[in-house]
Parts: sequence; structure tokens; C-alpha cells
Amino acid sequence: MEPLDWIDEQLDHLRQHDLYRELPPPLKTVGPSCCVDGRELLNFASNDYLGLASDPRLVDAAAQSLEEAGLGRGASPLVCGRSTGHLDLERQLAQFEATAAALLFVSGFAANAGTIPALTGAGDAIYSDANNHASIVDGCRLSHAEKHIYPHNDVDALERLLQVGKKYRRQLIVTDTLFSMDGDLAPLPRLGELAEQYGAMLMVDEAHATGVFGKQGRGVVEHFSAEHPQLHYQVHVRVGTLSKALGAAGGFVCGSQSLIEWLANRARTYVFSTAHPVPTFAAASAALKIVAAEPTQRSNLLRDAANLRQQLQAQGWNTANSASQIIPLHVGSASQTMQLAAQLRKLGCWIPGIRPPTVPSDGSLLRLSLTATHTEPMRATLVEALATVRTT
Ligand SMILES: *Cc1c(COP(=O)(O)O)cnc(C)c1O
Repeated sequence: MEPLDWIDEQLDHLRQHDLYRELPPPLKTVGPSCCVDGRELLNFASNDYLGLASDPRLVDAAAQSLEEAGLGRGASPLVCGRSTGHLDLERQLAQFEATAAALLFVSGFAANAGTIPALTGAGDAIYSDANNHASIVDGCRLSHAEKHIYPHNDVDALERLLQVGKKYRRQLIVTDTLFSMDGDLAPLPRLGELAEQYGAMLMVDEAHATGVFGKQGRGVVEHFSAEHPQLHYQVHVRVGTLSKALGAAGGFVCGSQSLIEWLANRARTYVFSTAHPVPTFAAASAALKIVAAEPTQRSNLLRDAANLRQQLQAQGWNTANSASQIIPLHVGSASQTMQLAAQLRKLGCWIPGIRPPTVPSDGSLLRLSLTATHTEPMRATLVEALATVRTT
């Protein structure tokens, strides 16, 4: 018996239970369709919601920046890794989110994993939605605060927890705004009220919503703020990523000047990680300008997603509470989900099957994400393929 033999046993266990994850074939670029093993597939797997990842405007911005700034940054931003490119994008993000300041992290994952333990510690309480992203879960694990996981979007359960929470030094409510698996929205207006009523910090993660929701494309906070203007002030910490609709890479946090200064001092994923290359930020900066200039891209995407959802519901698919460009097709069993995903691939559609531990056991689903670059004929092909696998 060798010390690492247990890994092979565990891998066999995963294979036997249809839980083994094979790395997908490498793709040259991300787009609405892709070439896999010499075959053209429609790609409904990516979070490149606005099709900006290979947009020539982003590519040109990055190429020009590469000439000027080079690639590696040599050190953490606190040492000497920070450039004017970082500063400029932070200013642009703060302006975009209408907050006082912003801070760039190497990824959205790092933003959550660093921010939560910087805001809470021993003697504090965190209230976290059961469906929050893994990076929020890990941020909570890294904090020494007491963790309270409330059932998904259950504001009454959250309030009951808050009612007995008075003994804590600080309290933090944290939620995704647009949940990555079910494509449903967090009840932000009510969460804002509860945070205010109980004196809690409210932190939201707009990873899937930035660039897609809201009049200016800021996300779900902006979407709800149209009818609940106070929400803008009730949300204290906004996390976002540059890697989804913005087509680049990196994460960010927006909020007050003091919050950002505190994170620059105390968020360990910021302090102890080398600053991100500037070209990706030049690309993200170009993406923010495109988001501002092209509001119909996002409104069309949400309209097309709503139509698609209706068609799929009519076929009998369970799309749960999806209200966005992410449309889950709930199946239940992991093996059935993977069989459906394989059938769909044969029909030319790539829709990933999502299994435990990403979702609870018996909660397996096909996760379909629509992007602004999917054309009407592409959507028609998808609808036809889903009709076919439903009846076979
Ligand atoms: C994708 C995602 C992240 C991580 O962002 P990256 O920039 O990809 O690291 C964080 N939170 C949520 C809700 C996400 O969906």
C-alpha cells in the first residue's frame, strides 16, 4: 500500500457513482459554437454572456496593453505589483457600480475568499444562503465567525436566525444575487431591509449578473433598485467578476473608501497574491465601455432567455425558478443527467450536466446558459434537440 493509493480507490468510487469528472476537450476560443473532436457543437456551457471573450475590441485593448505594460507584475499590489492600469480600472469599476471605491483581486473566487474573513472573525456571525457559490462557502470556512446557513432564499428563516443573533459583535449577510445553477434571483429588497433592521453588513456577489442585469448593466442590485432605491445604500459590499459577461479575468469588490482600505490591509487573497497582469484589465476596461454603450445586448439576451424558457417549459422541462440567461433543466439522478448530456452532444448541443457535490444528491441538472451571440437558428436547433431527448 503506497501513501497515495487511496486516491485511485476514491476515483473508482466516483466512476461507479457517475460522479467522475472528465476534463472536457480543450477549446481554442470561447464562442456560441465550438469545434470538439472535429465536430461543430453549439456551446451552451459558457458564462461569456455577452460574447465579449473573443471580441476584437477586447483583444486589441489587451494587445496594446501587453506592449506597454508587459505581463507579469512581479509582486503583490501592496509591494510593487500595482500599476496605473489597476488604478484606472478600479476607478472605472467604482464609477460603474456608483460606489466610492473598488479593489481588484486575481479572481472572483479570491475576492470572496479574502473578503469574508476580512470582515468577520471570532465573536461574529455570518448568515449565508444555502445555494451560495463555493467561493463564498470557502470564505465563510476561512473566517472564525459562527456560520448560519439559511435555506435558499428563505427570508423568514433568515429573520428567525437574526432575531436570536444579538449577542454577536458583528453580523454579515452574504448572498449570490443571481444563483449560478438555478438562474434565480435573491430577494434583495427584503435582504436589504433585514440587514438594516438588524444592523448587519450585507454583501452580495453579482458574478453572473454584472453586464446582464440592470439598466446600466451593474447587476441585480441595480435591477431591484429601480423600485427600491434605498437598496443601493443597504448593500455594503459588492463582489463581481471580470471573467463572465465582461469577457476578461479577475475579480473585484466595490464599496466605501474605508471598506476598500480595510480589504487592502486585511484580505489575505489580496495581500499575499501577485497582482494580475494589466492586459486582462485593459480588456475588462474595454468591456465596461461596451456594456455602457450597448444596453440592447443585455435586454435582448434576457428577452430571448425568457422566450426559450417558455418553450422548454412547454416541452415539460422543469426550469425551477430561473429568471435569467441561466436556465436549469432539472433531471434528478446523476446518471440520467449525464446520459441526457451525452445524447444532446450527439445532436450538436453542449449543455453540461451538473452533479453532486455542486448540487445536492438527486438535484442533478443540465445547466444551459444562453449568450447574446446565440442566433435564432442556434436557439431553434437547441429547442429541437431538447424535444428529441425528452421523447426518447
Ligand atoms: C464564477 C463565480 C465566482 C468566481 O469568479 P471567478 O472570477 O471565476 O473566480 C464567484 N462567485 C460566483 C457566484 C460565481 O458564479
